[in-house]
Amino acid sequence: MKKYLLFLLLLTLFISSCNKEENFVNDFDDQNDQWGDYDDEGDYEDDDDYNDDGGQASEGALTLYRVDENVISKIKDYPVNSDLKNLQEDIGTHFKMWDFVSRLIPIQYRDKISEFEVFHGGGELLGYVLPPNGEDLSKWRFGLAIDAIEGDLGDIDFTNLFTYVAIHEYGHVLTLNDDQVNTGGGACNTYFTGEGCSNENSYINKLYELGWADLENDPDLEDPFALYDKHTDRFVSSYAATNPGEDIAEVFSFFVTMPERPTGNKISDQKINLLYNFPELVDLREDIRGSGGPVLNLRAGSWMENPLAKKFKLCNRKGCNHQSTSK
Ligand SMILES: [Zn+2]
Repeated sequence: MKKYLLFLLLLTLFISSCNKEENFVNDFDDQNDQWGDYDDEGDYEDDDDYNDDGGQASEGALTLYRVDENVISKIKDYPVNSDLKNLQEDIGTHFKMWDFVSRLIPIQYRDKISEFEVFHGGGELLGYVLPPNGEDLSKWRFGLAIDAIEGDLGDIDFTNLFTYVAIHEYGHVLTLNDDQVNTGGGACNTYFTGEGCSNENSYINKLYELGWADLENDPDLEDPFALYDKHTDRFVSSYAATNPGEDIAEVFSFFVTMPERPTGNKISDQKINLLYNFPELVDLREDIRGSGGPVLNLRAGSWMENPLAKKFKLCNRKGCNHQSTSK
């Protein structure tokens, strides 16, 4: 039996189907008992005073910070079990995590990030983003798992899974914010992201037109494993087959970390080259690659070989599958 390299699990806001009530839906919908609770209670919808989502905000949530450019300040600690108390009190590590993000993503590209959450992913969740003020897509919460940290967060090392997670999650903010997606309602003739209607020239709509529109009637559209197996040449990673939102976050991660633009003509190559059509993304790419001093081991996909990646599971809409190694 063919095995896949399933290398990560990322919790994001992305949804592939329209749902009028939920502003935050992770990758694992209600079919998945383990994570279904995230979606059911609307915990994120009236969060603007920061006090009413209590301990229900997300499982493993430790501390929420307000972001003011490079500086974070605590909004609140979430109620946690005693076994997570030490991690919650380890503020030094929380600040190192944010410092790492602030070095990796230059400040001029972070104006949409208004909150930073540190959580414990239980060896399963690595990161997520969501718009804390509902339909206001100009502000985003950026969540990273404290148990996904490798090393001392000193150098920016692209073989480091934590680095990868930060880039991937940033890719969501980049492609789903208010400059890209319109929540005004009305008919949508472009890709509907779950939060709103993507702009005609948005990154995600262009990616959708390139590599998803003709899959609309594919019977495996909701089964990323089957979709990837059938259309491997379309995706930069198996996780990218989850949905267009995950796809563009993955494509963005490869776009940033690949030393040269692809020369092949596979759709996965075309997706990466698509991002080169946007001058502002070329600038962003260069700025991330030049961030934070020495950039080590800058090689696309190198995080897949990271032993830590095997610790995590990949979940999809059918549930979670344990990591398997490539054959
Ligand atoms: Zn993601």
